[in-house]
Amino acid sequence: MGDVLVTAPDAEHGYELLAQAGPLAAQVGGKVVYAALGDQAAQAKEFATRGAHRVLTCSDPALTPYQTEPYTEAYLQLIEKVKPSIVLIGATIRSKDAAARVATKLEVGCGCEIMNLRLDGGRLTGERVYFSGRSLATERLLKDPQIATVPARLVDAPAPQGAGGSVEAVALKLTPPKAKIVKREKKESGSVHLEDADIIVSAGRGIKKKEDLKLAEDLAAALGGQVGCTRPIAADLKWLGDAHWIGLSGHEVKPKAYIGLGVSGQIQHVAGMRSSKIIVAINKDEEAPLVKISDYAVVDDLYKVVPALVQAVKKARGQ
Ligand SMILES: Cc1cc2nc3c(=O)[nH]c(=O)nc-3n(C[C@H](O)[C@H](O)[C@H](O)COP(=O)(O)OP(=O)(O)OC[C@H]3O[C@@H](n4cnc5c(N)ncnc54)[C@H](O)[C@@H]3O)c2cc1C
Repeated sequence: MGDVLVTAPDAEHGYELLAQAGPLAAQVGGKVVYAALGDQAAQAKEFATRGAHRVLTCSDPALTPYQTEPYTEAYLQLIEKVKPSIVLIGATIRSKDAAARVATKLEVGCGCEIMNLRLDGGRLTGERVYFSGRSLATERLLKDPQIATVPARLVDAPAPQGAGGSVEAVALKLTPPKAKIVKREKKESGSVHLEDADIIVSAGRGIKKKEDLKLAEDLAAALGGQVGCTRPIAADLKWLGDAHWIGLSGHEVKPKAYIGLGVSGQIQHVAGMRSSKIIVAINKDEEAPLVKISDYAVVDDLYKVVPALVQAVKKARGQ
């Protein structure tokens, strides 16, 4: 028996972890405790109404912006205070580093980017993708606290419900970070933010000329989605910027629908879009790997299919 301590560097990710923590806490006979650190203290009530029995807040200045050392200290002190049996931390580049340090200090394991969380034999268990998606490993945490970092967008965030749990401010003893952040600049990505897109139309080398990217743009506009692409389109041909690049060395996306236009579906691309809810392939080769993994495939020339599809979508949506 023990509580489930949950925290994530961004609130939306935190809500999703609360959805996954609830059933685990019920099974271990504990409570869900959410740690709203830094700026998140302002949203404490939101966490309380979305599944946290107890929300602990700390807005110590050392916690904003994120830096590894103060967060490591904060996680360790929260674990000391809550004594959880399970700790779920949102897996992002801003937290996986601290999670690993915490696990090392406590001499316990740390599951990294674990999906499909469950208890098996009473231990926290889940899957992790290895080798760009070629292999799936099942990992089980053997020592308490069982620490796992969990990717975003695996489940829907729970809707707010009722009055929710309690909120209490905690004082943590944090050392000011050794590194000083002198400047922060937003990375130029124009209006493209594929990680947030519900629908992505992805352009591959089946598109023959830069001007023909309009096919992908028109379909994305008709569907209210964004344009993504394979590495050759962004890195070799430079027809689109890096913000559009999906895959192992590009962006990892999890849209509700991914539509690949002339995308072969090599493993390095699939590594970045395999968690899409619905995968559609438009490819003239029925043996293309993306066709094989797709939910729906149109095996035909994209130059013929896409304009007709755009017209059909516009008509259906009254555009
Ligand atoms: C270390 C490493 C990292 C990599 N990282 C990434 C990454 O992050 N992202 C990434 O995307 N790639 C990555 N790659 C490259 C990857 O291996 C593939 O080469 C790339 O994804 C292929 O892009 P593509 O599907 O656009 O092109 P292709 O593989 O050339 O496929 C084009 C497809 O279009 C179809 N087609 C052609 N004409 C038409 C038509 N008229 N109508 C319909 N279909 C048509 C073809 O049948 C074919 O399936 C990486 C490679 C390495 C070695």
